[in-house]
Amino acid sequence: SVREAGGDSILSLSKSSHAALNRKSIVEKRLLQALDQKNLHVLYQPQVDVKSGKIIAVEALVRWDDEEIGVVSPDELIPIAEETGLINNIGSLMLERACEQAVAWKNAGHELKVSINSSVREFRDKNMAKSILETLERTGCPANLLQIEITEKFALEAEAEKGIIKQMRTLENEGIVFALDDFGTGYGSFRYMQLLPISIVKIDQTFTRALKSEKTQQLVNGMVQLGKSMNLTVVAEGVETEDQQQLLTNFGCDIVQGYYISKPVKSSEVSDLI
Ligand code: C2E
Ligand code: MG
Ligand code: MG
Ligand code: MG
Repeated sequence: SVREAGGDSILSLSKSSHAALNRKSIVEKRLLQALDQKNLHVLYQPQVDVKSGKIIAVEALVRWDDEEIGVVSPDELIPIAEETGLINNIGSLMLERACEQAVAWKNAGHELKVSINSSVREFRDKNMAKSILETLERTGCPANLLQIEITEKFALEAEAEKGIIKQMRTLENEGIVFALDDFGTGYGSFRYMQLLPISIVKIDQTFTRALKSEKTQQLVNGMVQLGKSMNLTVVAEGVETEDQQQLLTNFGCDIVQGYYISKPVKSSEVSDLI
């Protein structure tokens, strides 16, 4: 009957939200241990300068394969880490590894910039800028080899909290570069370009994926011109085909990143790709 069906769906809703809560607490518990044992690792995805064809930067992406719960993707991990505050621990770990790796490449004769992803919660820590600068110092990483990617969600919250922008400016003055990630997918892209100390925009992969459409081509072309007119470096994400790379190059995009160039790989494989 209708009544039974209604009852069922209420029951199953509460069952599934219960399961989600349960999953979250399991992930959180395992994550605490993984952080403690430094069991998270980093893959690096090359970014290629279209003019020279050379790898000039890499994006550091977190990877976690837990012995009990298996692989947890960043799309599941990051929101849970943001909610529980463990994102600060992930962020410090990633920063430390990225700096050490940038120094290792530099010593091997490759000046590669390393780009890390940051969540707004990390910048709510009043000591964030200070601790980033301390990590650079400790690892011997030059500030100009570090890039920090922020999302539009980050930007939205940073706008309301002046302390965050202040910390960004402190880091910018030291030579660290900020990139606006997933550009074009949020609500306030243009305002953030004006408000925040960013030097790079990363056109989101949803645009790259849709480049077969002429409308999207015109839109992406406009996004590239906008970035250039503001003296920003324009990166395209999610480049999977030669056609996409060709179009983006024609539009004047500076840097491309995506499976067509390389998937995220171990640091040793980056050295091989160079
Ligand atoms: P993102 O920063 O936009 O990173 C790009 C994502 O797209 C990565 O997914 C990458 O593996 C994937 N990707 C790159 N090229 C291609 C392509 O050609 N095709 C397709 N389909 N995908 C491509 P990943 O590593 O799963 O990370 C997902 C998101 O999780 C990242 O998006 C970033 O927002 C977040 N994230 C990853 N690592 C960290 C971290 O250490 N800290 C923080 N706060 N967030 C992170
Ligand atoms: Mg990113
Ligand atoms: Mg992105
Ligand atoms: Mg993304």
